[in-house]
Amino acid sequence: MKIKLPKINFDKNSINFKLWAYFILFAAFLLSLLWLLQIFFLNTYYQEMKISETNRIANVIADKYGKPDFVETIRSLSVSNDMYIQIETDDAILFSPGNESGRMPVYMYLPEMSTVRKMLFKDNQRSASVIIPQKNPGHGDRKTLAYASFLEKTADDKVILYIFSPLFPVDSTVGILRNQLIYVTIISLCMAFCLSFYLSNRISKPIRSITKSAEKLAAGQYGVPFEGGHYTEIIQLADTLNMTSVELEKTDSLRKDLIANVSHDLRTPLTMVKSYAEMIRDLSGDNPEKRKAHLEVIIEEADRLNLLVSDMLDLSRLQTHVTPLEKSQFSLLEAAQSIIHSLGIYESRDGYKFVLDCPEDIIVTADENKIKRVISNLLNNAIKYCGEDKEIEVKIFSKDGAARCEVSDHGMGIAADEIDQIWDRYYKASTHHVREVKGTGLGLSIVKEIVLLHKGRYGVDSKEGEGSTFYFELNK
Ligand code: ADP
Repeated sequence: MKIKLPKINFDKNSINFKLWAYFILFAAFLLSLLWLLQIFFLNTYYQEMKISETNRIANVIADKYGKPDFVETIRSLSVSNDMYIQIETDDAILFSPGNESGRMPVYMYLPEMSTVRKMLFKDNQRSASVIIPQKNPGHGDRKTLAYASFLEKTADDKVILYIFSPLFPVDSTVGILRNQLIYVTIISLCMAFCLSFYLSNRISKPIRSITKSAEKLAAGQYGVPFEGGHYTEIIQLADTLNMTSVELEKTDSLRKDLIANVSHDLRTPLTMVKSYAEMIRDLSGDNPEKRKAHLEVIIEEADRLNLLVSDMLDLSRLQTHVTPLEKSQFSLLEAAQSIIHSLGIYESRDGYKFVLDCPEDIIVTADENKIKRVISNLLNNAIKYCGEDKEIEVKIFSKDGAARCEVSDHGMGIAADEIDQIWDRYYKASTHHVREVKGTGLGLSIVKEIVLLHKGRYGVDSKEGEGSTFYFELNK
């Protein structure tokens, strides 16, 4: 079995290395702090603590001086803090640990007492404290903190407070701590090493995988998944990139389509324009009738081009959802009437007949301009492909809770095997693919996109030779 070890990235700027290095540095810093405080400064720290403790107690005693519970306070303070307290005047001892049963007599501290007393008098201070190595044999290298202060100081009356506090050697404690710290250091460093290694890998792995996917995407491989791993920020990044990939794919296919369409559909009318222009230049320039006919063709082709370009733009706008739906409430009947009205010229000039059948007015909530575009495209198709009778029927009614609009003609209909493809862009049914019938091949694709944007349904019932009924349905 092959065990897969995480890859170590030795690039000094990589997240992997940086995270790992910071982690180790942080652990090292914490450990050094611990070593310094525990091993090197423990003694100083202990002495400082004792000094401040002694000062505090001296203050308490000074406060209690002269109060009824004075002696009781000293007694309990001296026992609970393991301190030797003596209070004396020039000629009498007011309080001494010698009085206490089981306590060491104060003569133990006579040398310290004279030292601290000298200091107190020498500098004429309120208090003095000093750490003195104990002279007494048999006590190892013990030290004593000696403290003295005046409880009362007048010209002829001086009350002095002495506090002696044994300082125990911290060497043995330091030894134990050092032993422990060695283990703590080794374990912490190992843990920091492993943890940082694991964490940095966990963070950088999805980023590496995202980079790989992005490289594939850059090479045009759409649909490569971006995986974000376990962290919210990276998951968000991966999601965004996934969305970007989908959008890029859409844009790319639109771009490809557009190039294909431009080269195919725009070229034909352009070629026509060019050849007719050449004909006018070389042949018909002097013949007004021919020239007029040729110019007519050029104008017609230019119109066709215009229509095609605007249909192309409309369709790609719809497909890329560039323009959002501007929904409002409007009457479907009125929308159909206005389109039929705009096509009035076909009735008056060409003898077409529009029959509008609407048993009830139906109000829909939709983008009015876009729905009008749908009706207009269907009606224009019906005009183009209707039969000899030139009769086109528009029916608006409710069906299964939806508003339905049907546009029927009695034309040649659509072959059953082509019926599914007429909704595709640029599809023109074989029977109608004659240049006399103007069309961009985009009309029904636009209808389909608009109806789908409204979450509606669309379709056609058609029989070859009998005619077609195109319909769309909108939810009310
Ligand atoms: P075009 O610009 O060619 O009309 P459309 O997308 O509007 O493009 O229509 C696609 C094809 O569907 C048309 O070329 C035609 O063959 C067929 N078609 C559309 N409407 C009708 C209709 N009312 N009767 C018969 N065929 C139709």
